[in-house]
Amino acid sequence: MASGTSTPGGAQGSPKRLAVLTSGGDCSGMNAAVRAVVKMGIARGCEVYVVREGWEGLVRGNGPEHDVKETQVHSGTPSTADPIPNRRRGNFVATYGEGELLKEGEGEQTLKDRYIIRVGWDDVRGFASLGGTLIGTARCAAFREVEGRRTAALNLVKHGIDALVVCGGDGSLTGADRLRDEWPEHLAALKERGDISAEQFETHSHLNIVGLVGSIDNDMAGTDMTIGATTALHRICEAIDSISSTASSHSRAFIVEVMGRNCGWLALMAAIATGADYMFIPERPPTSEDWQSSMCSVLDRHRKEGKRKTIVIIAEGAHDCNLKPISPDEVKDVLTERLGLDTRVTTLGHTQRGGAPAAYDRILATLQGAEAVEAVLEATPDKPSPVIGIQENKIMRQPLMEAVKKTQDVAKAIAEKDFNRALSLRDPEFEDCLHAFRATTRLNETYRVPEAERMRIAIVHTGAPAGGMNAATRTAVRYCLCHGHTPVAIYNGFVGLLNGNVAELSWLRVDQWSTRGGSELGTNRTLPDTDLAGVAAKLAEYKIDGLLIVGGFEGMAALNILEKGRKEHPSLRIPLVHLPATISNNVPITEWSVGSDTSINVLVDATDAIKQSASASRNRVFVVETQGAGCGYIAMLGALASGANIVYTPELGMSLRGLSEDVDFLKKRYRQDAAGKSEGRLVIRSEKASKTYTTEVVTNILTEEGKDLFDARYVSLGHTLQGGVPSPRDRTRAIRLTVKCIDFLERHHKRKLEQLEPEWKDPDVATIVIEGAGIRFAPLAELLAASDFKNRRGKVQWWSPMKNLIDVMAGRRDLEEPA
Ligand code: ATP
Repeated sequence: MASGTSTPGGAQGSPKRLAVLTSGGDCSGMNAAVRAVVKMGIARGCEVYVVREGWEGLVRGNGPEHDVKETQVHSGTPSTADPIPNRRRGNFVATYGEGELLKEGEGEQTLKDRYIIRVGWDDVRGFASLGGTLIGTARCAAFREVEGRRTAALNLVKHGIDALVVCGGDGSLTGADRLRDEWPEHLAALKERGDISAEQFETHSHLNIVGLVGSIDNDMAGTDMTIGATTALHRICEAIDSISSTASSHSRAFIVEVMGRNCGWLALMAAIATGADYMFIPERPPTSEDWQSSMCSVLDRHRKEGKRKTIVIIAEGAHDCNLKPISPDEVKDVLTERLGLDTRVTTLGHTQRGGAPAAYDRILATLQGAEAVEAVLEATPDKPSPVIGIQENKIMRQPLMEAVKKTQDVAKAIAEKDFNRALSLRDPEFEDCLHAFRATTRLNETYRVPEAERMRIAIVHTGAPAGGMNAATRTAVRYCLCHGHTPVAIYNGFVGLLNGNVAELSWLRVDQWSTRGGSELGTNRTLPDTDLAGVAAKLAEYKIDGLLIVGGFEGMAALNILEKGRKEHPSLRIPLVHLPATISNNVPITEWSVGSDTSINVLVDATDAIKQSASASRNRVFVVETQGAGCGYIAMLGALASGANIVYTPELGMSLRGLSEDVDFLKKRYRQDAAGKSEGRLVIRSEKASKTYTTEVVTNILTEEGKDLFDARYVSLGHTLQGGVPSPRDRTRAIRLTVKCIDFLERHHKRKLEQLEPEWKDPDVATIVIEGAGIRFAPLAELLAASDFKNRRGKVQWWSPMKNLIDVMAGRRDLEEPA
């Protein structure tokens, strides 16, 4: 069927047409990715389409009865033959009224038989906080065949679309690459058949494709994290945390099966985050054929140590070293028969896919969705299609098929029983965490260091509590014991040390600590200079060979004081290491501190509820005040994750002119909203953004100026941001970094024993930092040079540029209203 009717997208003078689809298994964060692609695409001047139901929708296209209407929409002129009633034409280029895609009743009816739909700004409103994919996904057998892909190509050409962003797993992305590879053949065949015109053939000679990895398994090579994996881990940890309490009550064993056919990421991260006793993952099966005995010996020792519960996590693709599947029921039988444990099996199944996206998935999907638009617009025929990934904290592009091939290599390596290779293909976090899991669960002597190298390692918390501090302490204690060291807890910070509030910690004592919020050791802001001689005397009295300080800006300040005191006090000449842990993420250089993910998750949960209440009542702007002192991290990342319209931080400051512009912007947005619909909007203000324009003042100004359009209320999140159950990400980050910190103390202690001077490049006083794509120990001098002491933050903040993206997502930047 020759259409020949559409206006060619991307042709000179006409806007580029860009489409986004979600494919394969759904995951939380896909909606945030779609939202970001749509908004960024519009902001970049594109006409944006969504393809419903993944590749299936692209193959089906829009029914013939819609062809005429589509043509009118595509012609770029306002169509009177709009297929959707009551659509709102705002001053943006919205073609469909807000929420049309969301509606099941009337909207669904109108969308029936239409899979490729032009969308406007407000169509994706509210998307970021919702789980699953609102534009639908499906598995599509037809797309696996050449003819199916040819039909998909025809539908793209008919709509004038030649830029496609695909969010899915490796299967969906392989399909994308094949479509792009075969594009010239498809077009030639379609022209030959008369399905497309010569003009269309010329104008659409190339298809640009960019991949976003949406997968709960976190199985894509070359990226540390896939969209959806963090949320799935949240669901798993919530479930296991709940199971743990009942397991303890009844002294039961639980076998928990989690998703992951070829990838044990979810099982591994859940195991370390929840403090499980044993786990089975495909990449590292038990080395012995008699895995039953190996497992029983570990679990029996845990019970003999005094544990009342046993948690075993098993990935759905678990197998033994001969690739024979290991099932949860089999494990259950072994525990029941050999250890006499009352054992239950829980299969988490699809609960892992569902629910509101975790803050990190919203942020990752937004950053990657925006990057995907840039990438698809920059793409050229001679370059391979990219996939957007992240390494530590750096959004990266890499050739899509290289990533897919490496991912498939893992499955191949497993099938060939080359488990070392399978592991080497995973990212560094995977191996670090595997090592941490082993070292914190094994009670045998395998990992002990020689007697002469054993240390007494003290752990102290300083500053305000942050989620993950306890996971760090648990890991330090367990790791120390595993290596034959003595872990010494200092309770209640440096004040506690001076008061002799010090005790050795046992393996069992810290068992449940990973999941607990706050600080089990107790923490305060008193620094060692309150009585440096006293601190030095106590460290000598307790024969401390190395000190781990867990805390925020105070942690670094404490490190500085102790280092300066070394000349005078020999007992301070021990390796000193600082693990940044603070909700406000204000330690210089490091891009993430332990606790900084929990606080954003608390904020996002709160703003989801606030937004709901706001839109349920009337047009209302909520001004949400966050903690953070002189550092705007929580406000900025919180604004990005929650979809706030305006953000105020101490770094950016506030002004009368800025407030006036903000009022105008909000008025404009409320005027553009559909009549009769109440809308909630968010403003996030960091507590120290301005001394004059306080949260209350801002709220009063908005109420006064909003008049009939909107009113305003404020809410302060205060100390809630410090509390709550630590997020899985904070727990796993704390665990991974703590292991490295103890290794650091060991390494420098050994140097000291060997009477070697600390190397200038690797001094024995440092802070562990995550920077760009790596983790390293930053010497104290470097940290001090990077600090803004007056405002208690780093001189440079990696997240500052996010303000632009927040503005783009709010519709403030690069969005010119049509004349
Ligand atoms: P998940 O990680 O959730 O399994 P996925 O994207 O890998 O996601 P698949 O079922 O493998 O999920 O693929 C989704 C769809 O992508 C398939 O139904 C099919 O339409 C298309 N697809 C997958 N593999 C190919 C391929 N080799 N060639 C063409 N299309 C493919």
